[in-house]
Amino acid sequence: MTKIIAVLNHKGGVGKTTTAINLAAALQQKKKRVLLIDMDGQANLTESCGLSIEEERTVYGAMRGEYPLPLVRLENGLTLVPSCLDLSAAESELINEPGRELILKGLIAKALDTCKFDYILIDCPPSLGLLTLNALTASDYLVIPVQAQFLAMRGMAKITNVVGIVKERLNPELNIGGIVITQFDRRKTLNKSVSEIISESFCDKVFKTVIRDNVALAEAPIKGKNIFEYNKNCNGAKDYMSLAQEVLKLK
Ligand code: ADP
Ligand code: MG
Repeated sequence: MTKIIAVLNHKGGVGKTTTAINLAAALQQKKKRVLLIDMDGQANLTESCGLSIEEERTVYGAMRGEYPLPLVRLENGLTLVPSCLDLSAAESELINEPGRELILKGLIAKALDTCKFDYILIDCPPSLGLLTLNALTASDYLVIPVQAQFLAMRGMAKITNVVGIVKERLNPELNIGGIVITQFDRRKTLNKSVSEIISESFCDKVFKTVIRDNVALAEAPIKGKNIFEYNKNCNGAKDYMSLAQEVLKLK
């Protein structure tokens, strides 16, 4: 059975794309077949995988019904559905489409008829709009990256609220896989106390793995590489491998 995971937080810059690409790469190291879907009109994931933002076939055309999900096999063995800058327009273009929240789910089901994957990871845009709703409707789990910063907690109530509504109306299978604290710097006392608050508030929903602040994680995408291709011995690689081990245990 394919497990579908949306990497979600409506805040930008919290580590969604970094988590999507490197968690996918870590799961691949564990011999899992992994598909990445870039659902963000900024196409950061697409570029981080070494592709151009001007790919001919993208999730945008697929969402518009022009062709099936384009599965691009990368040299490193991962498969990617690219995005493009036009994708943001889909939010308004599809607004009158019947079943507009179910489009991605349908596309994934069709793709799985011919291709087998153990995990599908969806990189969400920094909003709770239609593209994110499509990701939530298609997913079994959410992974929520959170920065250990003051105010990080504020967004959590909004996320849990939307998840509750999606679960009730669109996708009863949806569950929070876990919150992952990212860009953590243990020298900063504020980082420390905020991560303690997050752990106390969401105890069983917080991954034990904390993703440390690690410059290699910011450098790798510039070279179009994931962290295991860029530097497999750095803290970033160790942390994402540890997160993958926890994700493998999700029931
Ligand atoms: P989002 O997708 O939520 O907008 P990104 O994954 O793009 O966030 O991360 C925002 C920025 O922070 C990027 O420049 C990324 O390279 C950097 N970054 C993310 N995680 C880390 C980390 N653990 N250590 C250092 N830099 C990080
Ligand atoms: Mg991103």
